[in-house]
Amino acid sequence: MPNNIRKLEKSKKIALVAHDNKKKDLIDWAVYNKEALSKHSLIATGTTGKLVEEALGQPVKKLLSGPLGGDQQIGAMIASGDIDIIFFFFDPMEAQPHDSDVKALLRLAVAWNLPMACDRSTADFLMTSRFMQEVYENKLPDYTHYLKRNI
Ligand code: PGA
Repeated sequence: MPNNIRKLEKSKKIALVAHDNKKKDLIDWAVYNKEALSKHSLIATGTTGKLVEEALGQPVKKLLSGPLGGDQQIGAMIASGDIDIIFFFFDPMEAQPHDSDVKALLRLAVAWNLPMACDRSTADFLMTSRFMQEVYENKLPDYTHYLKRNI
């Protein structure tokens, strides 16, 4: 397989993050998709993960709470290829103490062409995509030019 392709297996590594005002939305959505989510592994920031685990009765790998480093842990996992998809319900109406981490997480997801849903309707579209149940070849952006730049 060419090294610019990252193969996403049938069973995906899904990251879940929700800001406090969006946690209810994410939990409702997760419960609605309980059966579909049971086919994948779940990774989440601390508080989101605890709530999802309780609501679904499915183990969730819980990282630190978002503002305490959890967002950055998810970002690092994206960069190292350990996350396939992210559902990141951020709050567009309230400033977050860890705004810089939120921005960094959004940026890394795009930098690595990661499927990402930031609201419930996009999450519904993503969850019902046929690629959720199939192997998917994710074409990574080509950063060769950047890596070989003259300094
Ligand atoms: P939390 O973090 O799940 O620990 O509340 C979410 C966030 O990134 O704000």
